Amino acid sequence: MGVFNVMEKMVSDSIERVLREYPDSCQCEKCRDDIAAFALNQLKPKYATTHKGEIISKAQCLETQYSLDVITALTLAVERVSRQPRHE
Ligand SMILES: [Zn+2]
Repeated sequence: MGVFNVMEKMVSDSIERVLREYPDSCQCEKCRDDIAAFALNQLKPKYATTHKGEIISKAQCLETQYSLDVITALTLAVERVSRQPRHE
């Protein structure tokens, strides 16, 4: 399919930055996935087409517009998951 969810890319690009702010939270792969899923559930998906150069400008425009939303959702997600990690 020639579309992708820009939010997924933004969440995976920003998760490291947010986790660095929470050095005490678990940084394992399981928790990262939980954090990403939790954040993505807060966010409305924003789809961009992947045809030729279109993807770059469209995605960058959406990223500027929604980066604060993504950071907010990720921060919430890290706090939630680090309080109740789904493992010992
Ligand atoms: Zn963990």
